[in-house]
Amino acid sequence: MAEVYTGRFAPSPTGLLHAGSLVAALASWLDARSHGGQWLLRIEDVDTPRCVPGAAQAIMQQLAACGLEPDGPVLWQSQRGDAYAAALQTLVNQGWAYPCGCSRKEIESAQTVARHSATVYPGTCRHGLNGKPARAWRLNVQAVQKALGLPAVTHWHDRRLGPQQQNVAQEVGDFVLRRADGLWAYQLAVVVDDAAQGVTHVVRGEDLVDNTARQIVLQHALGLPTHQYLHTPLVLGANGEKLSKQNGAMALDLSDPMAAIEQAAQVLGLSTPSTRHNFLAQAQASWARAFISRPG
Ligand code: GLU
Repeated sequence: MAEVYTGRFAPSPTGLLHAGSLVAALASWLDARSHGGQWLLRIEDVDTPRCVPGAAQAIMQQLAACGLEPDGPVLWQSQRGDAYAAALQTLVNQGWAYPCGCSRKEIESAQTVARHSATVYPGTCRHGLNGKPARAWRLNVQAVQKALGLPAVTHWHDRRLGPQQQNVAQEVGDFVLRRADGLWAYQLAVVVDDAAQGVTHVVRGEDLVDNTARQIVLQHALGLPTHQYLHTPLVLGANGEKLSKQNGAMALDLSDPMAAIEQAAQVLGLSTPSTRHNFLAQAQASWARAFISRPG
């Protein structure tokens, strides 16, 4: 049975859209339209201290000005706490999630002793808190893989970048599901919400490529379907770094949204139509030629 294509754009309202985030927005929209599918919007406002008041509404206005309008109701992660709590409980019941009492400092010193790379959690609390109060909740990656017969190395295919792989247990470790400050972690929220919105295809920026294997493991753990993935090229600033709100990327200039869209299309390597008339429809045809393989 052919699945109903559902794509999404999932901005964090930590600032306005900039030239880099518009690339992911446009690509996810073009992919959905090219598949005759729907395109949904999710406001990822779980990390409340980083959210900027009014930014979500402003992002929606920016998208609308560019002609990118969602096909269904907008999902707000700040209203999804019950769903995340239920997912965590499912994992706890399976024995696949455990509380962690480590402070950042303790993790760092354990990493030095165990010669783990600086980003890998060394598994200190996997078998008990040793009297420490619980701070965060983590996924026991190897327990999930063992119980479900999943390989240690997660292989997946990116529609632009080709075959990808990651040994999550070794390269990341047992990652956080609920943070020490009580906020829900991005990995859990994104997996629960992609499933709740019926997402079939994820199109997002290449800066998130490293999260995908973790999300696939979590999808398996929660008995949720895995998606098709495409990670879009990043826009680099003058300093050669990824354009981001953190390094002061300028918000899109809404006095000329089509110019912004044209620029984003160029980043995606789409042949830019000679006229602005019906630009999005032409970009869509160009996207389909580049990224949608036809059978036979
Ligand atoms: N909220 C994330 C961001 O703005 C995107 C998450 C995703 O697309 O999976 O970077």
